[in-house]
Amino acid sequence: MTGLPVRPDLRGATPYGAPQLDVAVRLNTNENSHPLPAELVAAIAAAVGTAAAGLNRYPDREAVALRTDLAGYLGHGLRVEQLWAANGSNEVIQQLLQAFGGPGRSALGFTPTYSMHPIISAGTGTAFVDGRREADFALTAAHAADQIRRHEPDVLFLCSPNNPTGTALGLDVIAAAYDATGGMVIVDEAYAEFARSGTPSALTLLPGRPRLVVTRTMSKAFGMAGLRLGYLAGDPAVVDAVRLVRLPYHLSTLTQVSARVALTHAPALLETVAAVKAQRDRIVVALPAYGLTPVPSDANFVLFGGMDDSTRMWHELLERGVLIRDVGLPGWLRVTVGTEPETSAFLSAVSELRPPTR
Ligand SMILES: *Cc1c(COP(=O)(O)O)cnc(C)c1O
Repeated sequence: MTGLPVRPDLRGATPYGAPQLDVAVRLNTNENSHPLPAELVAAIAAAVGTAAAGLNRYPDREAVALRTDLAGYLGHGLRVEQLWAANGSNEVIQQLLQAFGGPGRSALGFTPTYSMHPIISAGTGTAFVDGRREADFALTAAHAADQIRRHEPDVLFLCSPNNPTGTALGLDVIAAAYDATGGMVIVDEAYAEFARSGTPSALTLLPGRPRLVVTRTMSKAFGMAGLRLGYLAGDPAVVDAVRLVRLPYHLSTLTQVSARVALTHAPALLETVAAVKAQRDRIVVALPAYGLTPVPSDANFVLFGGMDDSTRMWHELLERGVLIRDVGLPGWLRVTVGTEPETSAFLSAVSELRPPTR
């Protein structure tokens, strides 16, 4: 790129790049490993076949039918005007930063957190500020509010359950963070469906908080990462603001149709969530016997530490056919929770590397 007139603020930056390797057990990008129900696959194929005849026309620019279905799925009395959808929640976040961030503005996130928040900030010319968490990765209401008042960000990212640490935020933290800023507050709930019971969604905080936005995705619990469908719920004015920056017809006819079919199969799709949570809890219980320390998780992954050299352990697991994630936190690794056999393969590779201590 050195010969190109690339924007100065992008020079030397690295693109998002989780390895896409062809190994037997792929547990590095928090996908849902369970196969999609055969009836759903057939229903999508049929609906796409019918919709293909209309591909000479642009799709519904406002995706009204899909947004209506998404409002129905989320519940909480949400109306279609409060929902917006795009190609993955990453695109939703990009549109939010285009509308509310940008040159001369800043976004605050509490690291370690989702690596795309700083990357999308950089892409939209928004300065990203690294906030701090406690040593155990927790974030208290007082600590969050204090940092928000200090930095006065235009956009605040709260990731709950947080990737890569796995834990959800209490609503008290989100409410305190909202009160501490005059900017937009984005709660990234990509993993909400996996939260342990009794963990309420930030959706319950939307009434009376017009600067609060909750983002969700069909990539994780729904098991449809390949579909590229993310969405937000917020005040109707937020949706109007995002419309100013979205590209016209950004959501293809085929995406809209497939997502609507998938939503009619939501109960069957979400059946795998219980199975994933059971394997997650199995990993959390099993790892201490190998001298490893898992962080409690409300998501479909587990962050664990306790190894001397996390990069070496990542390579040693890969040599055994198990691909997990080196999230760039020295001394920690993140494993996505897959099927029961994948969990067994991961744990057996771990036990080869680290003979049980008890
Ligand atoms: C995986 C993930 C997303 C999902 O991105 P999509 O673009 O919807 O696939 C969003 N936020 C977090 C924190 C994630 O881990």
